[in-house]
Amino acid sequence: MINPASRTKSIELSQIRKMFEVTNPDAINLGIGEPDFDVPQNIKDAMKQSIDENDTHYTPNKGYIELREEIVKKFKNENGIKTNPDNIIVTVGASEALYMCAQAFIEKRDEVILPNPSFLSYEACVKLAGGDIVPVDCKMENDFKLQASDVADKITKDTKAIILNSPSNPTGAVMEKEDIKAIADLSMDNDFLIISDEIYEKIIYDKKHYSPAKYSDNVITLNGFSKTYAMTGLRIGYLTANENLTEELLKIHQYNIACASTTSQRGAYAALTGPQDEVEKMVNEFKNRRNLIVSRLNEMGYETVNAEGAFYVFPKIEDEDFVAKAAKEGVITVPGAAFGSNGKGHVRMSYANSYENIEKAMDILEERVVNG
Ligand code: PMP
Repeated sequence: MINPASRTKSIELSQIRKMFEVTNPDAINLGIGEPDFDVPQNIKDAMKQSIDENDTHYTPNKGYIELREEIVKKFKNENGIKTNPDNIIVTVGASEALYMCAQAFIEKRDEVILPNPSFLSYEACVKLAGGDIVPVDCKMENDFKLQASDVADKITKDTKAIILNSPSNPTGAVMEKEDIKAIADLSMDNDFLIISDEIYEKIIYDKKHYSPAKYSDNVITLNGFSKTYAMTGLRIGYLTANENLTEELLKIHQYNIACASTTSQRGAYAALTGPQDEVEKMVNEFKNRRNLIVSRLNEMGYETVNAEGAFYVFPKIEDEDFVAKAAKEGVITVPGAAFGSNGKGHVRMSYANSYENIEKAMDILEERVVNG
């Protein structure tokens, strides 16, 4: 028997993944966290062409310079972040970027403030790095938006970092500019790091996204192509930070990954430089589905916030058997408690599924779970 390292023992495999592996393939899946759209054609063409050109060798560790230059433009034009190609690292999804942040900066006795509820990987990455988690509640009465005053209450001399995620997985909440700015100010005054996961930035309805890096130098901004361009399986993302932070991050990336896949980098370049109308279409469709699912759940008596971003809703459902009952009837959802203690009494539903399937799923819930 080979014993795993204690850090590996300290975490568990994702319950969500496990659930998908055992569920009935005919079920309507409102559990999944990926767009149901196809990769836009111009991106597919660029990737095919890259293979035909035998562009299959190592790239610079930080990624192709052409791609990093486009990412710099994107940060400047869309986020108001001034950076340069040396301070960009192209990663294997935002997942690798998160892992790099934790490995490069978190160690024993460091406290990391995490929104509660939040994306599962945050806790796992912090624990693997040996850090302590300090949860801060995102309250339903505030539409699950993380508030700077609640964050301020959690800061101690051991606070090393906070992870922000707006729009949020699992609640769809979009943080207010004042809170982003106030937390950015706190990070400067108290000398801690903000790891800003902006992967859902473009999936946002009638609201503006703000990046804390516009207001603080202590920020690592993470983003990726999985959600905006439906490129989940292509595993491509990126980050930016100041020069000192980037150098430490590069050490983790260099010895672990070397570089992101050439094919995906070429696809990412096409994504940034090509037409954006597919993204717009996708977001409009998500908005229609959001309107549908929120109104149906509220009609059923499940209080549901009209989430302003991402593709999740987080209704209040106190029946502890709801997820199991819904699964038995053919609708897959995820218990809110999977995302942190403050998610208890809620269920995460993803609307990254067709309008028709969401209608069908809501009919099933109404007929066989609520009234069943
Ligand atoms: N951050 C959040 C909040 C996510 O929901 C996800 C994907 N579920 C990721 C990061 C990881 O994305 P990627 O595919 O780029 O690794």
